[in-house]
Amino acid sequence: MTEREYQVCAFCVMDTSDPDITFDTNGRCNHCRDFETLRGTVWFPDDEGARRLERMIEEVKDEGRGRDYDCVLGLSGGIDSSYLALKAHEWGLHPLVVHVDAGWNSELAVQNIERVIKHCGYELHTHVVNWEDMRELQLSYLRAAVANQDVPQDHAFFAGLYHFATENKIRYVLNGGNAATEGVFPEAWHGAAMDAKNLKAIHKAYGTQPLTDYPLISFSQYYFWYPIAKRMTPVRPLNLMPYSKEQAVTELEKIGWRSYPRKHGESLFTKFFQNYYLPTKFGYDKRRPHLSSLIASGGITRERALELLDEPLYEEEELRRDRQYLCRKLRISDMEFEDLMGRPIHHYTDFANWDRKYARMKAAQTRISRVLGRDVSVYR
Ligand SMILES: [Zn+2]
Repeated sequence: MTEREYQVCAFCVMDTSDPDITFDTNGRCNHCRDFETLRGTVWFPDDEGARRLERMIEEVKDEGRGRDYDCVLGLSGGIDSSYLALKAHEWGLHPLVVHVDAGWNSELAVQNIERVIKHCGYELHTHVVNWEDMRELQLSYLRAAVANQDVPQDHAFFAGLYHFATENKIRYVLNGGNAATEGVFPEAWHGAAMDAKNLKAIHKAYGTQPLTDYPLISFSQYYFWYPIAKRMTPVRPLNLMPYSKEQAVTELEKIGWRSYPRKHGESLFTKFFQNYYLPTKFGYDKRRPHLSSLIASGGITRERALELLDEPLYEEEELRRDRQYLCRKLRISDMEFEDLMGRPIHHYTDFANWDRKYARMKAAQTRISRVLGRDVSVYR
């Protein structure tokens, strides 16, 4: 394979660190071009969004009439979910608020969660993931050296949330995901976090002990049982309004919530993984897709994004401290850490996964949708 010549998009800041990126004759990449298709399909930062949002709020309220809760909301303490909680409170919703604690909360995250809960008058349900399971999986992923080291946390987070929603017979799950800040998403950098088959295969290849009660969600639960039999419906209200991080921070700071010095400062693992492991080992800088989303959604200029990219991912002292913390927490020595950093890279498809099953399901959904004349896909 020949090394590809470096190129950065002339409109956003995505570059050839995404092996699948393509450019048109104007030097514009597929990511910011594809972003345009989100507007009016999943992203409505306009009057249409306001109408859709109002309708969504009414539906959620209807669902909860006569009950303690009308929806479930997963709160990580990060900006998106904290802001969503604040909005849910303003809209008069009664979410069952769940925090899945995977063991990596920063002190500030814990404080921020408390502040949001207190302000909204919500009750917090915390699910603590068995730490030995978490450690076992994270070490397996580090040994496998796949790009998405966040899978053990993310899978536990969503599996925990969805199981809890269906156990409590709550249909709507509020999700802080949004196009404005994360619409640009290079597929090649990831492995699906919900793919339990892939997670189990990686654990089987690199684990040293069985998992005890790690929350897994199966393919049939995720794609059939929960959304169809249980009618579970994840909704993304932040896509139905103009959403800007600055404004969210301003509003959140009024209730005592405080900004993280670095993106994903709510989880010490994610922070270290995104700002050190991923760029060092894979050359993937997650700020690129994030800033490109902001450029495409009109939240920032390309010049400003380039300035921000020039800033270091880590200060030396902070990196030393975080690395030490990570090693202590995972109970590995400095040398073991260096060994993990040096492991040969794998792609998630080197391990069993449900990609083909997913493709078959998608094809079936398209056929059924055509016959029924309506979209039957889930998790849009
Ligand atoms: Zn671009």
